[in-house]
Amino acid sequence: MIIQLTQILENKREYMKFKELNIIEPILRALQKEDYEVPTPIQEQAIPPILERRDVLGCAQTGTGKTAAFAVPILQLLSQKAKKPNEKRTIKSLVLTPTRELAIQIYDSFSTYGQFTRLKYGVIYGGVSQNPQEVALRKGIDVLVATPGRLIDLLNQGLVDLKNIEIFVLDEADRMLDMGFLNDVKKIIKRTPPKKQNVMFSATMSPDILKVANSILVKPVSISVAPVSSAVDTVEQYLYYVDKKNKQSLLHHLLRDRSIVSALVFTRTKHGADKVVKHLLRANINAAAIHGNKSQGNRQRTLANFKKGVTRVLVATDIAARGIDIEELSHVINFDLPNISETYIHRIGRTGRAGLEGIAISFCSFDEKPYLADIEKLMGKRISVIRDHPYPLLITTPSEKKANNRRK
Ligand code: AMP
Repeated sequence: MIIQLTQILENKREYMKFKELNIIEPILRALQKEDYEVPTPIQEQAIPPILERRDVLGCAQTGTGKTAAFAVPILQLLSQKAKKPNEKRTIKSLVLTPTRELAIQIYDSFSTYGQFTRLKYGVIYGGVSQNPQEVALRKGIDVLVATPGRLIDLLNQGLVDLKNIEIFVLDEADRMLDMGFLNDVKKIIKRTPPKKQNVMFSATMSPDILKVANSILVKPVSISVAPVSSAVDTVEQYLYYVDKKNKQSLLHHLLRDRSIVSALVFTRTKHGADKVVKHLLRANINAAAIHGNKSQGNRQRTLANFKKGVTRVLVATDIAARGIDIEELSHVINFDLPNISETYIHRIGRTGRAGLEGIAISFCSFDEKPYLADIEKLMGKRISVIRDHPYPLLITTPSEKKANNRRK
């Protein structure tokens, strides 16, 4: 089987570093501090048009680096006329996102990427006291990240002024729609100036979403990273309940099946990836890890070997695997289930491309059951469970788990 790996280094255009995207020094410094070497595909596509003040419609999900794709250029545009520490600020950019978790994550990202600029950031969401949010607003904010409900409350109380917004971001538009926030979003947009730059991201592009896009965006640049939502239907998915300590043995057991020609195995941590590889090598299964701790040269060699079929199993963390485009890959194995459901869809989308059959196998330990529930909810379907295997889950309920811990 031919495995086509379009690796970052093979494609010169993709290997554009942040510097080549004309990112200014204070932001570059922050990205370097975060160990971001190479822009992700969505960053590469979104940063230039946003810097050119174009409207952008992006099709991408969480886990693709989409936050930096809009945060970095917004910081750059706004930092050119950032206020001095004591000067009065007005909100210049508003990012609307559906959930409190996302709002906090986006706020953290702005704070991280913009740590060497003079800009100030704020986040508001419901379910908590509004006092600290009021205080932050009064002190002055350049970029406001908000969920719609609480923002409307504060707008109605006259505590937020959106009249100076220059750049508006609607994040996770499809989820906004699903959660019934569309009317609130429209009300909020009415409080912003009609002439401004608009950026919208959505994981899916249904006709309803396109309608929203048409009502907000003006001549947008459309960008997208490999659509993965279709993977849910084209990839055969199987689930193995297994205790954490038996995951490695189950992996060896499955890899005895030679029909698994090539497998991309996902672990949650870099350390976990190294451990899996160590065990596989000991069992004479040719495997290699690829993650952020490895040098660029090392990653390149590892990928080339996987492409040639020298390495049968590539073990990766989500971030390391992101820049790699793998086609004609037969199996994806989730050694650990991801805690962000979209990541699961993104992972399984690595197999079954171009109409080929793909198989995704997931291990689920007792602790990971809540992640599984979230994933199945997002997909709107259940994953077929394989019960007939040598390492069935022994710990099933909290009391059994406690009893088991006592025995240790
Ligand atoms: P997001 O899709 O924005 O939620 O980003 C997912 C994760 O990728 C976050 O943990 C980011 O810190 C990380 N990330 C974003 N861009 C890059 C990059 N260019 N290089 C490495 N990691 C990144």
